[in-house]
Amino acid sequence: MNTSAFRKISYGLYVVTSGKEGRFNGQIANTVFQVTSEPPTLAVSINKQNFTHEHIRESRKFAASILSETTPMTMIGRFGFKCGRDINKFEGISVRTGKTGVPVVTDHAVAFVEAEVVGELDCGTHTIFLGQVVECDILDSQAEPMTYAYYRRVKGGKAPKTAPTYLKEEPAQTAAPAAKAARYTCTICGYIYDPQKGDTEGKIEPGTRFEDLPADWVCPVCGAKKDKFVKEA
Ligand code: FE
Repeated sequence: MNTSAFRKISYGLYVVTSGKEGRFNGQIANTVFQVTSEPPTLAVSINKQNFTHEHIRESRKFAASILSETTPMTMIGRFGFKCGRDINKFEGISVRTGKTGVPVVTDHAVAFVEAEVVGELDCGTHTIFLGQVVECDILDSQAEPMTYAYYRRVKGGKAPKTAPTYLKEEPAQTAAPAAKAARYTCTICGYIYDPQKGDTEGKIEPGTRFEDLPADWVCPVCGAKKDKFVKEA
């Protein structure tokens, strides 16, 4: 069985949010899809370990923001590689309260959909939630929605182990040909440390070699330590 065939399936990239009464969370998902048009129904596949899973189970509602190609890796890292049990993922992110009361992420979103859960299917590690759409709209008619292929090819992104489409031993994906100065790739999230650019968030000056980064420096996207980085081939 050649599971690389799965890579030929097309997906998008979404922030799925849920919760109630002031307790909310959100996560990145690539498995959001329309099931029927009458009534308008969506499905989303969520890992049972994820905090958002708890929230959907309890509140029976969720929102999905369809991300644009302009979405920075730091935002994908915040929602995709960090846990809402540890940080408030919405800090510094534009959200608005939807019809369901669930926060809808509007930053870098081309559109959003809100749904109420009408069914679920136990899929072992994941649950597929079926949601009847109660609200949806376009947020940015100019921007292109990000496909999962674009995220992997252009952004150099990876899937976390909890993603429904995670495959072992993913080949290293890089956004650009190797530069003269050694660049290092985060094996957790795919972020590339480029010495020519430095790391503004971590207050690292451009021109700083990876080897010269402080020992406590961490990946600005997912928070991984230096030893999780590999030199770009
Ligand atoms: Fe990382």
